[in-house]
Amino acid sequence: MESSVLENMGQVTRRSFVVGTAGVAGLAGLAAVAPGIAGADPIGHGPISEPAEGPSAAALITFQKIDGTPVYYWRSNRPNTTPRNWQATQAFYNALVAWIRDLRSLSAGYGSISYLVSAGFYVNKPGEHGAGTAMDLDHVKWSGGNSISPLDKHHASTNAAIRKRYLATEAVCRRRFRYVLDGWYNADHADHIHSDFGGMPVRVLKDSESDTKFVQAMCNNFRGAGLAIDGVWGPATQSAFNGAKSALAVTGDPHTSSAVWQGMLSKIAQKGFANQGF
Ligand SMILES: [Zn+2]
Repeated sequence: MESSVLENMGQVTRRSFVVGTAGVAGLAGLAAVAPGIAGADPIGHGPISEPAEGPSAAALITFQKIDGTPVYYWRSNRPNTTPRNWQATQAFYNALVAWIRDLRSLSAGYGSISYLVSAGFYVNKPGEHGAGTAMDLDHVKWSGGNSISPLDKHHASTNAAIRKRYLATEAVCRRRFRYVLDGWYNADHADHIHSDFGGMPVRVLKDSESDTKFVQAMCNNFRGAGLAIDGVWGPATQSAFNGAKSALAVTGDPHTSSAVWQGMLSKIAQKGFANQGF
C-alpha cells in the first residue's frame, strides 16, 4: 500500500475538482466520468476519484478471485493460500477482469495464471484505495512455474530476465490503468505495483514522473539505453523512446492515443515475458 506524500497531495489538490463532478454524481457515476477527464495532470499524480462522501458512499463488491483466479494475501505469512475477501467497486473489478485477461493472453507461454497475491484493493484510508478503485500487486504465479514478485523487489533483481518480466507485468497494468506506481517510482512502491483509476484514459505522459520512470526503466532494460531513471523526460529519454517506438514498429502517438499506447505496451509485455530485447 502506498503512503506516498506526493500521491496523497495529488488527491488533496484534486478534491475540489472531484466534488464538482464525480462528487455530485456519486461513485456510481464515476466510471462514466473518469475516462473523460484527460490531461491536467502536471506532476503525474492525479487520482481523481476520492469519494466526497467517504468510503460508505462506495458501492463495494466482495471477491476472492478475479475472473476465476484466486488472490491471496502474503503480508502476514507466505505462501498463504487461504481465500481472502477483497473489496472494490464493480467498475474497478471489471477493469481487473480486463487486466487479467490481457495478462493471460500476453503471458500465454508461461501457462495459465495459478494465483495472484495482493496487499490490498479497497483500504479504509483516503484516496483511490479508499474509493475501492486501486490494486496493490505483490506477486503473480504461473502454472508453468514462472513467477514475478514485486513483493521481493524484482524490479531491482540482478537477473535481467526477471527485470524484463517485472516490466512486462507492469506494462499489462498500464494497458488498463494510467496511474501505475512501481519500484522505480519511490521506496514506498519497492515491494508492490500500485494501479488505480486516476488520470484515465491510459496514455503515456511526458510530464508524469511515474510514466517517465517506467519509460526510462523500459528503455534501459530492453534496449540498454543507460538512462538515469529520474522521471524527467529530457532529450535522452525522448531519443530512447523514439528508438523503442521504431524497434517495435509503433505508429501513431502514444501520448494522445490510448490504442497506440496499449498496442505498444502489449509489444513490450510480449518481449518481456519472452526475455527478449528489442
Ligand atoms: Zn496502492
